[in-house]
Amino acid sequence: MSAQPKEQPRLNKQQQLFSRLANNSLIGIAIVQHNRFTFVNRQFAQLVGYERQELLRVEQVGLIFPNYPVIQSQINSEQPELQFEDQLVHFFGRKVDVEICLMRSQVDEADIDVWFVLDTSQRKQAERSAQIAALVYANTGEAIVVTDENGLIVDVNPAFTEITGYELSEIIGRSMNLLSSGRHNKAFYRKMWQQLRTTGRWQGDLWNKRKNGDEYAERLNISTSYNNDGSVYRRIGLFFDVTTHKEREESIWRQANYDHLTELPNRQLFQKRLQKAMQESDESGKAFALIFLDLDLFKDVNDTFGHDVGDLLLREAAKRLQACVRNDQDTVARIGGDEFTVIVTYVSNQGVVNRICEDILRKIAEPYYLGDDVAKVSVSIGITMYPEDASDAGELLKNADMAMYGAKDSGRNQYCYFIPAMSEAIQARMRFSESLQVAIEENQFVLYYQPIVDMRTGQVVKYEALIRWEHPELGLVPPSEYIPFAEDTGLIVGIGNWVFNAVLKQAKQWSLEGREQLISLNVSPAQFYADGVSAEEWIKQVKEAGVPTQLIIIEITERLLLDNNPIITKILTALRDAGFRIALDDFGTGFSSLTYLKRYPIDIIKIDQSFVRNLAPDSEDLALCEAMIVMAKKLGLEVIAEGVEGPQQEALLLEAGCTLGQGYLYSRPVPAHDLDRWLRERNLNPSKSKTNDPITTGPLPTKV
Ligand code: C2E
Ligand code: CA
Ligand code: CA
Repeated sequence: MSAQPKEQPRLNKQQQLFSRLANNSLIGIAIVQHNRFTFVNRQFAQLVGYERQELLRVEQVGLIFPNYPVIQSQINSEQPELQFEDQLVHFFGRKVDVEICLMRSQVDEADIDVWFVLDTSQRKQAERSAQIAALVYANTGEAIVVTDENGLIVDVNPAFTEITGYELSEIIGRSMNLLSSGRHNKAFYRKMWQQLRTTGRWQGDLWNKRKNGDEYAERLNISTSYNNDGSVYRRIGLFFDVTTHKEREESIWRQANYDHLTELPNRQLFQKRLQKAMQESDESGKAFALIFLDLDLFKDVNDTFGHDVGDLLLREAAKRLQACVRNDQDTVARIGGDEFTVIVTYVSNQGVVNRICEDILRKIAEPYYLGDDVAKVSVSIGITMYPEDASDAGELLKNADMAMYGAKDSGRNQYCYFIPAMSEAIQARMRFSESLQVAIEENQFVLYYQPIVDMRTGQVVKYEALIRWEHPELGLVPPSEYIPFAEDTGLIVGIGNWVFNAVLKQAKQWSLEGREQLISLNVSPAQFYADGVSAEEWIKQVKEAGVPTQLIIIEITERLLLDNNPIITKILTALRDAGFRIALDDFGTGFSSLTYLKRYPIDIIKIDQSFVRNLAPDSEDLALCEAMIVMAKKLGLEVIAEGVEGPQQEALLLEAGCTLGQGYLYSRPVPAHDLDRWLRERNLNPSKSKTNDPITTGPLPTKV
């Protein structure tokens, strides 16, 4: 930079100006001569991370600007200036993005190059980020939707199109409402917007609708980008499809809360609904009714038609129940095999509940057409009211259950409201059940025997075994007090098996004493249905005991034959084929007696006491007895008259052609050892056999 001496002051001024400009410039400036820096400004030094002095000492500018030698060769007099983007090498070795303007000029015949360098690294970085963002935007599996400050769609990515089915062109400028499935209520969206406005963010699961109308679940994450003044610029929604996940969740939830057979809420969901009903009732002050339902004798349906048909019936019954209530507010649940509950909410008066129950009774009792079978059931219903009867859920359920038992005890097929006295009755029932259980375990039963005699001679032809319970506190409990109960509860199986074994033992004992004695034992229908009677097992046991099967008579009642169940016929036939004999007890009290006699393998009929009790000449009972005796004889059956208490009955029966009798006239039921004494006395005093002097030594059955 030499100049004419006279121009010296001006040049100095120019130089000063240049220096000032150069050092305050935002642009890096370097002057290069012979491959070395002869001037660098502060910006340039900063840009490449050196001190200015250090740069002036650098021997090869190529160290800082590796492409310089190539660029340099492109500059000539025709093209003294070049502008391009390139990279410089920073002191720490990293590359710095720059835009360079290179100007060549001649000073003292030497080439000098002036570099004007603009740092573009930040801009470049931003560009690269944007590129990556665009790449992600286009390729991510997550759907992205951008809306403007008014919630109108500005942009969507391909994943959005894939999930929703909408192309950007179809949806741009539209509101997101377009996707709304209608599954969420206003409150849901109100809450979402409230949060968005206050925090700018929202996160959650949402059901929306695809273009093809299918609903889908998305896990959505919304964030907001703001303008400088704090107003909303954009909202960005990111979501992915969680439909299968949701569906699986829902299916798990359904499995946990619904009964798979009837699709009604199960016990667990019922408990939740009950809690909710209590809470709502507390808030509204309106009562609700908890109804407990148990199908009557449903077990018989299962036993008669099989479990598949039983299941069909349950499903149908569930539908009928549901038809009796208001679907949107009342709950019908299945809480056990044939047990259902109904919650009737907002009950203003009992009439509403009564009407529902009457409706249920009627609908449940209608016939069920199940494949080829037609079944009928009834239902027993117990009702308890909240908050009147109890304040906690467990108590309520217990009340309703008790009331249901009340309905059963009063003859089933009816409804019954809970009253506090029930709770005592039920407790007594529970205690009774427990003590009966103990009776089985601790062998508190004994068998009494009542002779059946040939009324012509007074000779004993067989004995009927009758069970007695020697209760440690209550004394002798008559069977009428616990047999029906045992039948209801299934305890009859244990009792029945005990009776059978006790009879076998007695028969064996007698045959060891050389007495071949016929013994008749009572078998309850409930034993057959509860798998308590296995023909093979009984035959086997009798054989093992060394007792001829011909000595055992099985007394059944018409109740067993009512259902016309092939399984019963099979068991009876098997027993009879093996040598057992079958007696039809309480004959005349049932329905179509004659049909049974022809259809089933029956050897003996026992005329019920109710006909014998009031036998008198020319009485209607006598006519009935005569008819039964004639009929039995025609069919080749043996006839036994029960409840013979006096000589007049005996005489009339004999006259009518009935030779076998059983009753207090001959003997009350007594323990086996008392029988021996009775027989001895009769043998010592043969006239006694016709004196009709009953033995009275045995304890009499206590009557209730
Ligand atoms: P059932 O089979 O009809 O038995 C005859 C009942 O009449 C017996 O009552 C007997 O004591 C009573 N009885 C006998 N002669 C006379 C009489 O002259 N006058 C009157 N008024 N009654 C007489 P019990 O022993 O109290 O049994 C009642 C019922 O309990 C039996 O009726 C039977 O259905 C059932 N039962 C008794 N033992 C068993 C058993 O081991 N198993 C089963 N499943 N049921 C049994
Ligand atoms: Ca009997
Ligand atoms: Ca009887």
